[in-house]
Amino acid sequence: MARRVVDVLVPVALNQTYSYRVPDDADLKPGDVVCVPLGPREVTAVVWAENETPDPRLHNRLKDIGEKLDVPPLKPELRSFVDWVANYTLSARGMVLRMTLRMGEHLGPERVRMGVRLVGDPPPRMTPARGRLIEALSDKLLHGKSEVAKEAGVSAGVIDGLVDEGTLAIEPMPREIAAPSPDPSFSAPDFSDEQRVAGEALKTLAANGGFHVALLDGVTGSGKTEVYFEAVAEIVRRGQQVMILMPEIALTGQFLDRFAARFGVRPVEWHSELTPRTRARNWASVAAGTARVVVGARSALFLPYANLGLIIVDEEHDQAYKQSDGAHYHARDMAVVRGSIAKIPVVLCSATPSVETEVNARTGRYQRVVLPSRFGGQHMPQILPIDLRRESPPRDKFISPRLAEEIRTAVDRKEQALLFLNRRGYAPLTLCRACGHRFSCTICDAWLVDHRFRQKLACHHCGFSMPRPHVCPHCAAAESLAAIGPGVERLQEEAAALFPDARTMVLSSDLVTSIETMRSELNEIAEGRVDIIIGTQLVAKGHNFPRLNLVGVVDADLGLGNGDPRAAERTFQLLNQVIGRAGRDKGYGIGYLQTHQPEHPVMQALVAANREAFYATEIEARERAMYPPFGRLASLIISAGDRPTAEGFARKLASAAPFDERVQVLGPAEAPLAVIKGRYRFRILVKSARNFDLSNYLRDWVAVGPKTKGNLKLEIDVDPQSFL
Ligand code: ADP
Ligand code: ZN
Repeated sequence: MARRVVDVLVPVALNQTYSYRVPDDADLKPGDVVCVPLGPREVTAVVWAENETPDPRLHNRLKDIGEKLDVPPLKPELRSFVDWVANYTLSARGMVLRMTLRMGEHLGPERVRMGVRLVGDPPPRMTPARGRLIEALSDKLLHGKSEVAKEAGVSAGVIDGLVDEGTLAIEPMPREIAAPSPDPSFSAPDFSDEQRVAGEALKTLAANGGFHVALLDGVTGSGKTEVYFEAVAEIVRRGQQVMILMPEIALTGQFLDRFAARFGVRPVEWHSELTPRTRARNWASVAAGTARVVVGARSALFLPYANLGLIIVDEEHDQAYKQSDGAHYHARDMAVVRGSIAKIPVVLCSATPSVETEVNARTGRYQRVVLPSRFGGQHMPQILPIDLRRESPPRDKFISPRLAEEIRTAVDRKEQALLFLNRRGYAPLTLCRACGHRFSCTICDAWLVDHRFRQKLACHHCGFSMPRPHVCPHCAAAESLAAIGPGVERLQEEAAALFPDARTMVLSSDLVTSIETMRSELNEIAEGRVDIIIGTQLVAKGHNFPRLNLVGVVDADLGLGNGDPRAAERTFQLLNQVIGRAGRDKGYGIGYLQTHQPEHPVMQALVAANREAFYATEIEARERAMYPPFGRLASLIISAGDRPTAEGFARKLASAAPFDERVQVLGPAEAPLAVIKGRYRFRILVKSARNFDLSNYLRDWVAVGPKTKGNLKLEIDVDPQSFL
């Protein structure tokens, strides 16, 4: 007789499921996590669906499913989510599934084990196996599931049968050190009136349940975190789980402490730097439902929550939410999708919402909850422009005289100053003064960045680096190399020369060796052991530096001139956020914008503290150009080892685009970053009407278009955030 067959999704780059035979005594249902043979390997995979009509000719060739892991099955809502994300982003389902199975290939000895306990009456229909099992559990204590099955000589199916009938209950086995639950009333803050109103709104949202999106829109320092903790507390009280997404998990040390101050314990963390052991433990406790609050990077979206009740996306506008390798998904958008599938509320938080979210709030699709002022009556920092055309720094220097004077005053007052420059390294370009030779990457279309701390010239796109030479490799001139333009390291040199008595510190992602050192450096700053902080966008995010009152933006124009449709939005958000670090405690913060274009609408909106003006201009421009959220975009990025191959394929692909009057196909054009890692790149931009199923259109297109072969590669990026 033919055995039962199920379709299993394996965590590899494939869209389709594979059929496997179910061993006779195995009780398997969709969602179960199992080991299956895949070629020469065994992999952890998930039963995706029953296969009602297996092909009888293949039956004998099918392999058997191996062991079923002792973890709760993936819920239908998570399986639908995996399917949804894969479908929308045109990623292989297996790759998306892989993100939910990041507990390590096998859970190992630390996994949560499920136990079984006698809780109800004997079933109407008794069998000898059921009798033995009930006998073995008669002490009403929690027994390991597999142990008791073995003891009673029954299969796991007998246990599950009695669970269904209510005789037995499955519960996670206690572990050596069970993480204590957050206590929702451990230490509730005294709210201002504004905060109380906002907190009540979020609490109601959490209590009502159901899918609903709120934008918590509050200026920097208004206490958004304290306020959304109200919703967290409500969900914890209800025995459900909360997922809090953060753009940059390395920077959440302060957040963990604040959480502990409010709830008595730290939340469970989820990010790429967890040790394998912690990762397995955290994964299992999320699956068992014992991890009540999870704070994580975007990958936390894919965890198998047992009972998720609320999703919070902090700094929802942050571009770090977009994953740009593997599956190209935007974690904020997918959080909303997950909320809608799981029918639970979602709270997006920002002081400068993304234009997409802002439009959704304006049209009433999202509920807006506002915190209009800083906690404790502190003023927002004042923002002043420094017109570099009139007040320029000395030659080969980057700090204007006025900014230098302000820093001097701050340092004399024993306050901190932050110099913000979103550029790593010492200088973005090195050239030979004798022959004009410029150092560029050998395999990318990019200059090599001078990194003095590491004593290297390095490519930011492929990681190539070389020692900084003493003579020009082109003309052999000695001592002829000049650094052009500033990076944070060069700025530190300048600051140290200007203020020899001040303590300076550079914060830049390439200098961060681990989350722990990062956290301790941030603590040093918060404790006031640094006078001048020099940082990239790493410092913009979510820190409280109580003694910081002055922020100098060294090159406010840096992000504006790159042809990116989101350049204005990003610059506005980033500068607002970084200047928002100032004056949180004393309430007299000030931000200086060194700019060549003080008349630019972004600079004007910042200086006038007129957020409204910024959104009005930006929303209108987007609407006119049919850019998101008024239209939809996708990028097709074609790359190959040589230019003609890439270009030829891109042209063929573009001409294969199915005609649809709601779609515009632009390009192919050579990518702004024309060569990365020796690969030549072309881009096609696809624009469509807002209510158009662009993913489906792309799928049809790729199906009829030319096929990639050799080293040709086609990447599809739906809702692209980068246009390089
Ligand atoms: P945001 O995220 O809106 O920038 P935060 O949540 O970081 O603001 O709050 C800014 C600071 O104000 C934090 O140090 C926070 O602990 C403090 N704060 C906010 N609300 C309260 C309150 N009700 N009582 C005491 N401290 C508060
Ligand atoms: Zn390179």
